[in-house]
Amino acid sequence: MGKPTGFLEFQRELPADRPPLDRVRDWNEFHIHMPARKLQEQGARCMDCGVPFCHTGTLLSGMAAGCPLNNLIPEWNDLVYRGLWREALERLHKTNNFPEFTGRVCPAPCEGSCVLGMNAPPVTIKNIECSIVDKGFEEGWVTPNPPEKRTGKKVAVVGSGPAGLACAAQLNSAGHSVTVFERADRIGGLLMYGIPNMKLDKGIVQRRIDLLASEGVRFVTHTHVGKDVPAADLLKSFDAIVLCCGATKARDMPIEGRQLQGIHLAVEFLRLNTKSLLDSRHEDGRYISAKGKHVIVIGGGDTGTDCVGTSLRHGCKTLTQLEILPQPPPGRQSDNPWPEWPKIYRLDYGQEEAKERFGGDPRQYLINTKKFIGGENGNVKALQTVRIEWAKGDNGRPFPKEIPGTEKVLPADLVLLAMGFLGPEDAVLQQLGVARDERSNVKAEYGRYATSVPGIFAAGDMRRGQSLVVWALHEGRGAARECDRYLMGKTHLP
Ligand SMILES: Cc1cc2nc3c(=O)[nH]c(=O)nc-3n(C[C@H](O)[C@H](O)[C@H](O)COP(=O)(O)OP(=O)(O)OC[C@H]3O[C@@H](n4cnc5c(N)ncnc54)[C@H](O)[C@@H]3O)c2cc1C
Ligand code: SF4
Repeated sequence: MGKPTGFLEFQRELPADRPPLDRVRDWNEFHIHMPARKLQEQGARCMDCGVPFCHTGTLLSGMAAGCPLNNLIPEWNDLVYRGLWREALERLHKTNNFPEFTGRVCPAPCEGSCVLGMNAPPVTIKNIECSIVDKGFEEGWVTPNPPEKRTGKKVAVVGSGPAGLACAAQLNSAGHSVTVFERADRIGGLLMYGIPNMKLDKGIVQRRIDLLASEGVRFVTHTHVGKDVPAADLLKSFDAIVLCCGATKARDMPIEGRQLQGIHLAVEFLRLNTKSLLDSRHEDGRYISAKGKHVIVIGGGDTGTDCVGTSLRHGCKTLTQLEILPQPPPGRQSDNPWPEWPKIYRLDYGQEEAKERFGGDPRQYLINTKKFIGGENGNVKALQTVRIEWAKGDNGRPFPKEIPGTEKVLPADLVLLAMGFLGPEDAVLQQLGVARDERSNVKAEYGRYATSVPGIFAAGDMRRGQSLVVWALHEGRGAARECDRYLMGKTHLP
């Protein structure tokens, strides 16, 4: 512990983001770095607790409490305080292959369980993590580190999201020859084509992919396993397979009027936007534009927020975000104590921007959509909504009960459905004969990652359902360890 009185002397401070009305004019990242001296003060706030809950990564009430990667947070906080940035970077890379991703997009469950957070604002762990790795790249400390020896074993990783990338990095470091298959034209999964550029710059994603390639990982794009290549063929050419295909079946809304034009799944809207941005700075026009439109986003989570931020950058006319759940409370409730993840009201970047642009948080809570109403041109023109309350059914389960007389018609030219995901797609799993669990995810015990077929492992959203980047990294690393054990009879991977 560098400074025993740090938490008493310094207040929690984060760097100011770019002003909302300025940043919605471009697609650049909106976070700004803090000067090193300020970061050292923030590192000094860490108390190096006897039991550092920030790095436990356990599930409490179904949510992560502490860092799922078990990042050695108190150690690197202390090293930052002492100005030992390179050592801090080494410590960070011990548990996290890609801190430049988590340092930007992780919701930071570590901060929710920081011990200082019991009676003061928690340590700015995520910001310090991001600053360590960004400095590492700036200083040229992050360089390719290929294995000294190859084992002669070949592994296919299917899917190149954070789970697939972390798995490939770990297996490659153990000396196996790893090929990553991806159906999209670019590597990265939702890091590339889900999370928008202003939250995670695609140059930063590509930089890490290039590093992995120079360490020996082979990337094959435009290859849909199960379609372009029969999944069973991989069994013949590789010694093991790790499935990291994500939970890509989006939840739809099969109500009256769903067939109208102008109603899209959020991931499609986000994917096309980023692809067109990267291909041509939007000059090819091959994206769904929100310009001049009344936009309604259905779903109040991360994906919905990204649709809000993207629509604002297109120049939408109005913006409404509908959420079926109630507005969370401003602070922790008695049934959500520390060190659980705080289930509280937050103004994320998209809502902050919408508030500045239109004068208020775009979210409306406890609203259900009854039908989509079409115009003469076959395009959606409005939504009929109703207010609901959550009531208990005869079976004791909560259900959304409509409140009579609260129907409304909201104008809409573009509707984006961001209501979550239902699980992985079928083709690969059917072709390989891999068993699924009761939620339709791949059946593979947590910590073992072995599927019902010997030599085939599964990790990330495909195994645990739609989750977080930090969990995908954790599972990708774990699946690599178990795959290495399967191939070699023992493993040194963490
Ligand atoms: C819009 C959006 C925003 C999000 N924002 C955040 C955030 O801010 N912070 C956060 O922590 N989490 C966020 N998440 C969740 C996070 O992105 C996911 O939990 C994470 O990416 C899961 O990683 P994965 O590797 O398991 O799968 P994915 O990232 O989904 O990658 C799976 C990859 O497999 C490929 N694939 C699938 N089937 C095949 C096949 N048969 N052959 C070849 N390739 C195949 C897909 O094309 C895809 O590239 C967000 C999710 C979405 C949808
Ligand atoms: S990966 Fe997420 S939970 Fe872990 S230290 Fe970083 S911000 Fe915190």
